[in-house]
Amino acid sequence: MVKILLIEDDELVRENVLELLDAEGFDSLLAENGRIGIQVAQHNIPDLILCDVMMPEIDGYGVLSQIRQNPETMTIPFIFLTAKAAKGDFRAGMELGADDYLTKPFTRAELLGAVNTQLNKKAAIAATYNRKLEQAKQELDYTIRYDSLTNLPNRLSLREKFTQILDSTNNQNQEQQIIPVLCLCLDRFNLINQSFGSKTGDLLLKEVAQRLKSCVGEHDTVAYLSDNKFALILGTTEEENSAQDVALAILNNIAKPFRINEQEVIITASIGMSLYPQHGSDIESLLVCAGQAMDFSLQQGGNQVQLYTTNHRKGAADRLALETSLRYVLEREELRVYYHPRICMETGEIVGAEALVRWYHPERGKIPPDQFIPIAEETGLIVPIGEWVCHTACQQTKIWNQKFNQSLAIAVNISSRQFREDLRERLVDILQATQLDPKYLELELTESILVQNPSAATQKLQELQSLGIKVAIDDFGTGYSSLSYLRQFPFQILKIDQCFVRNLTDDAKNAAITIAIMQMAHSLQFRVIAEGVETEAELAFLRQYPCDEIQGYLFSPPLPAAEFEKLIASGKKLEI
Ligand code: C2E
Ligand code: MG
Ligand code: MG
Repeated sequence: MVKILLIEDDELVRENVLELLDAEGFDSLLAENGRIGIQVAQHNIPDLILCDVMMPEIDGYGVLSQIRQNPETMTIPFIFLTAKAAKGDFRAGMELGADDYLTKPFTRAELLGAVNTQLNKKAAIAATYNRKLEQAKQELDYTIRYDSLTNLPNRLSLREKFTQILDSTNNQNQEQQIIPVLCLCLDRFNLINQSFGSKTGDLLLKEVAQRLKSCVGEHDTVAYLSDNKFALILGTTEEENSAQDVALAILNNIAKPFRINEQEVIITASIGMSLYPQHGSDIESLLVCAGQAMDFSLQQGGNQVQLYTTNHRKGAADRLALETSLRYVLEREELRVYYHPRICMETGEIVGAEALVRWYHPERGKIPPDQFIPIAEETGLIVPIGEWVCHTACQQTKIWNQKFNQSLAIAVNISSRQFREDLRERLVDILQATQLDPKYLELELTESILVQNPSAATQKLQELQSLGIKVAIDDFGTGYSSLSYLRQFPFQILKIDQCFVRNLTDDAKNAAITIAIMQMAHSLQFRVIAEGVETEAELAFLRQYPCDEIQGYLFSPPLPAAEFEKLIASGKKLEI
């Protein structure tokens, strides 16, 4: 029932109004002065207040200003009743926030008209407010449950969806049903972000979200987890094979080129799959299992599906153990630098070496860099490790150059993290401490490091150049950039990746690419080094083209310092 509070000191008026309101079915509250009126209003929160202006103690204006100060009563429609109809009083009341003004004596129609107008206005405001509230609630619900970039359900929705699927499976007594859960990540997504920028990376994630949705049915759920990771719950099935088929179809679909901002982007995905109830009874444990299987897919080179096995759990535990022991690698002196000879194509002589780090783990034995450098990069341990490698290699080269009266150059691999941090200062310290002439030091960077922030990279390269240090682009051809793009960076040496050099003689495509790179690099005055030369046939092929140096197992594998020293002492040369 609508509650109306009447504050009026004139008993006669009070009774008249009361009678009118009762007849209209309103619930009336009465107060004979302003003080009581305020108390009743605060206690009962009426829907509307009718109030006299001229009253003893607190007058109508006093009542109104107090009503408008209290948050609970401030929006109650307020109508003044007064015998005074002076224009000034009318304005004073309106400025304090009155909604209407009735001059006594007023007719029944005038009173009810004013009351109903205010009540309707109040109802309309309340309706708009409720609609907005409902809209805000829905928006909040969406932000809590959906990812704003991909518009896909997030982890919370995924959990809810899984519970729903589980409930409906149980209700239908489908106990033999399995529920496949897939974790998917985009292989080398970081490289996309680094090469094309994070805006392109974001657009790619959106496109991938669309493709994933198009690969699955209406009973399947696609969700976004974080970074480059997605999760899927496939509708219940009785066979794991059908889930494998869906997963393979997804891989094929993702591997098709994407077109983003007029650019062709190619990416593959790694998928791990776990099954309810075999691998877990709740979504969190199923996601953990699927995630471990996905990491395994990734480690195997990506672009594949792995069904979870307990070995994957072991793999994840292994990685964690490796990460922990990597933290102590320097203080326990478990690292060694190996030296891979670089041979001049003109003379066949050793002209330098590439420093390659090896880890001698007390229990696992020799661990190749491909297995621990990525962990060192992720954890930031690459900075002290890289510094140690560089220091050791510079010190050793200084000794050899003095001992054998040589001018051997030493190439050191630099990771993206080292490049971003204070590389120049660290190198200055190392060169000072080891007294190696900077002209003998070469840094190997991959193109992805440079394209992250081209202007900052150019400046850093110029600073290195001003110290006299040379820069080589390592693994050229495996990234995304063209040589004409890379030209903007000041570097001196180009190392053609071994994947092109391998089978040069049998693979016409590899041969054509290698020839094109060598000729173009030479015309741009870069020194060209071919990596991974393993056979006489590859060497013979390279000899016909402008290739300055080679590095590869044909001449020697990477060697520990003592053996490398023997090699220099022996004066071994490549037959040119
Ligand atoms: P990379 O810089 O491209 O090094 C060349 C890799 O190719 C080395 O593998 C080398 O042993 C191998 N290689 C050279 N010639 C041949 C050949 O004829 N046949 C075959 N099959 N392989 C050949 P390694 O030592 O396992 O290093 C792998 C990668 O690890 C390196 O690739 C480099 O990216 C990284 N790495 C190694 N040491 C360091 C380091 O001290 N710091 C950083 N940041 N990365 C390092
Ligand atoms: Mg290298
Ligand atoms: Mg390389």
